[in-house]
Amino acid sequence: MDCCDARTAISARADGEALPPNVPGYALDAHVRGCEACRRFDEGVRRLKELAAGLDGAWGVG
Ligand SMILES: [Zn+2]
Repeated sequence: MDCCDARTAISARADGEALPPNVPGYALDAHVRGCEACRRFDEGVRRLKELAAGLDGAWGVG
């Protein structure tokens, strides 16, 4: 898998959506473990989701 596929899958997983059919979860995890750029991307996406969830809770939006 290349980083483009990995990031598509990371975004989907963070949104609670199904992973793309060509990117099984174990392959995504393996790529993220071995690729620092995607690891940072994964962390950034999770942080954004947590932030968004916190804002939703605070303001009752969404
Ligand atoms: Zn990567």
